[in-house]
Amino acid sequence: MHATLEKLQDRNEAYDRPSRKAAEEAVRTLIRWLGEDPGREGLVDTPARVVRAYAEWFDGYEQDPAALLQRTFEEVGGYDGIVVLSDIPFESCCEHHMAAIHGIVHVGYLPQHRVVGISKIARLVEAFARRLQVQERLTAQIADTIAEVLSPYGVGVVVKATHACLSTRGVRKHGVSMVTSRMLGAFRDDPAVRQEFLTAIT
Ligand SMILES: [Zn+2]
Repeated sequence: MHATLEKLQDRNEAYDRPSRKAAEEAVRTLIRWLGEDPGREGLVDTPARVVRAYAEWFDGYEQDPAALLQRTFEEVGGYDGIVVLSDIPFESCCEHHMAAIHGIVHVGYLPQHRVVGISKIARLVEAFARRLQVQERLTAQIADTIAEVLSPYGVGVVVKATHACLSTRGVRKHGVSMVTSRMLGAFRDDPAVRQEFLTAIT
């Protein structure tokens, strides 16, 4: 069995979670609702594949974002500037339409005592992105977790993303991207720090 799916099933006791069979049945219902025959050769295995794909796309629920930042380094060789990671790509899913969100995240922080490995910040982004989301909450969750766990002098997070629910349905506007940001501590209060961050990400 798929490893992620196994983990998902392990936490079934935590709440009234439908079985994998029930989830596959729901996909079959959607296929029938579209006017298709779920028994058709090309569609027979689709419900199982869709459920496996969902387990992967939403494996952010399996992760504890704060735990990802626990291993930090205190030795920074006297470095006292801001640390910026720009253009971290992510895929997420809008919780209103369950449609894809694609974008990039820029993260900056001004360490007080501790810095974290750069791959950990990228994994933090994934842990929150791979859930049902709205872009505003994704932005806030990334910033707030870094602020809480690392206690830096400040944090800045900017997210720029396109939403399939806007480009492929409704008003069908292509090429529109949405930008959200959250500035905390020195990134909010000190114009020089904020400017240094904004210059680094452009
Ligand atoms: Zn949407």
